[in-house]
Amino acid sequence: MSQIEQNLKNISLKISAACTLNGQKIRDAGDVNVVAVSKKQPIERVRTMLDAGHRLYGENRVQDAMQTWGILKPNYPDICLHLIGPLQTNKVKEAVSFFDVIETVDRPKLVKELAKEMQKQERHIPCFIQVNTGEEKQKSGILPADLPALLTLANEEELRITGLMCIPPADEPPALHFAFLKKLADENNLKELSMGMSHDFEKAIPLGASYIRVGTALFGERPHNLPPRTL
Ligand SMILES: *Cc1c(COP(=O)(O)O)cnc(C)c1O
Repeated sequence: MSQIEQNLKNISLKISAACTLNGQKIRDAGDVNVVAVSKKQPIERVRTMLDAGHRLYGENRVQDAMQTWGILKPNYPDICLHLIGPLQTNKVKEAVSFFDVIETVDRPKLVKELAKEMQKQERHIPCFIQVNTGEEKQKSGILPADLPALLTLANEEELRITGLMCIPPADEPPALHFAFLKKLADENNLKELSMGMSHDFEKAIPLGASYIRVGTALFGERPHNLPPRTL
């Protein structure tokens, strides 16, 4: 078995364990979807993951995603791709045509541009709103207090928002932020929750994560000196 297959198995065991509390099943492991974060990973590793049967992937940059998945997608038509990094409005057109879910909607202008572009392309893909739960200055995501207004706007623009996403501050207990995101989702009738990464997904699962975004724990460390992907 390849290292990557082993990693996939390990994660799946950890998910099952995180769905159990004191011997009681608290969640269905099948409700926790693993977004394999393939950003900056060598394409051979991605191919190994595909061979292992995994079909749900996350990329943080539109351009990089199109490079890698432009090659791979035609051979794997059932791939589902999530955009998990910040989206500039000048990339909205590509993002709408290329991704299956956009997890990082975080401002009114982006809501409007996405709605317009989806109408134009007649391609209506679900979106999550990224919430800056730690209210960190340098981080993207809408402030929690501004979430209701953004949801109202999305509703007016007929942009389909199905969930929330967050990246907790590095220096705070992530569980507080996961619980907060869950509360915001409940208050706003949103079903999906994208939270938890390699180092904290086990904490996100009991708090309701429906998508966990796992990179290094699946693929290994991202090489720092990876040459640009070529077509
Ligand atoms: C890179 C990235 C991940 C994956 O991080 P790992 O620590 O490698 O699991 C998850 N979410 C976002 C938004 C990312 O940019």
